[in-house]
Amino acid sequence: MKLILLGPPGAGKGTQAKLIVDKHSIPQLSTGDMLREAVKFGSKIGKRAKAVMDAGKLVSDDIVIGIVSDRVDMENCKNGFILDGFPRTLQQADALEAMFEEKDMALDAVIELEVDDDALVERVAGRFTCGTCGEGYHDKFKLPVTPNKCDKCGENNFARRADDNEETMRSRLRAYYKETAPLVGYYYAKGFLRGVDGMGTIAKIAADVDNILKSA
Ligand code: ADP
Ligand code: ADP
Ligand code: ZN
Repeated sequence: MKLILLGPPGAGKGTQAKLIVDKHSIPQLSTGDMLREAVKFGSKIGKRAKAVMDAGKLVSDDIVIGIVSDRVDMENCKNGFILDGFPRTLQQADALEAMFEEKDMALDAVIELEVDDDALVERVAGRFTCGTCGEGYHDKFKLPVTPNKCDKCGENNFARRADDNEETMRSRLRAYYKETAPLVGYYYAKGFLRGVDGMGTIAKIAADVDNILKSA
């Protein structure tokens, strides 16, 4: 199964992607995570991406297209994958289509998580992540069951993203509406788009996503 999760920053793409990973044993390909890794390791790509990410702008298409193209060739992607945060521009979507054609792959569905702006800001402001295993949490909506102990791996190694502040979030939202939102129409026209109400609980959204995947 090859799936795209589409939606603004904080919509819940990563959260839902991880639930699909557990259920369907296909990897989550998050370009945001890959870029943050590159920044952490100080690679050439990381050095180019850092300032752009800190400003809440989009990293150049050629960089992200290159990363995704390399990643889908890896062995664990052969039964499918979830694209989380890619494509984010029409140029990336066209490149993905060409990539699929060249690699003889087919897209199954694009799931759009629809969430109000106020809720997005609240979700991003309260977001934190386990630095050891990547599990996502929220100050109000998803705290670890035992305080200071990751539900998944048991570590106390939580971190917040530098770009999850109000000012950068505003710039990320602008980038979303200007450059990524046109993909909703793009995939609707191609017959792939499935909208999900992203305002419910994590469990309710997961059930809606599951129903879509059953019929995809
Ligand atoms: P969120 O899901 O909260 O928007 P991500 O982790 O997906 O955040 O992305 C963080 C940052 O990484 C983005 O603001 C952008 O700078 C960069 N980025 C991630 N994916 C892409 C992409 N497909 N194209 C361009 N930039 C990207
Ligand atoms: P994205 O990958 O789209 O940027 P995340 O999956 O990281 O979004 O979710 C953003 C924040 O909101 C996280 O702290 C997450 O725990 C929380 N969250 C995700 N889905 C929901 C939901 N349905 N209701 C409330 N909070 C949510
Ligand atoms: Zn953990």
